[in-house]
Amino acid sequence: MSEPPPWLVEGADVVHPTHGTGTVARVGEERRLPTVWVDFDYGERRALAMRYAVDLLRRPQAGSQRTRPKPAVRCDQCGRRPVVLRAEGHQWCEEHVPQEV
Ligand SMILES: [Zn+2]
Repeated sequence: MSEPPPWLVEGADVVHPTHGTGTVARVGEERRLPTVWVDFDYGERRALAMRYAVDLLRRPQAGSQRTRPKPAVRCDQCGRRPVVLRAEGHQWCEEHVPQEV
């Protein structure tokens, strides 16, 4: 079990090899597994298992470009990002996630 590096905390900027740049929204547990939630700049919040995230996430280099938002990834209700849930062809931000999906 890898310990998260000390810089991997809420608010830290990160780079993921597939999803690009983002910002750590939360570090905690989901279903008892250490998890890091990242608001990726392309527009979506993703939960990553910490044991994989520690190998995948890097700190951005100084002056490096941020990943561009994908125009199609935004809340159906308000148009904001990050999208926290996609289901049945819909997508929502944290504020507008329906109670039953
Ligand atoms: Zn919304």
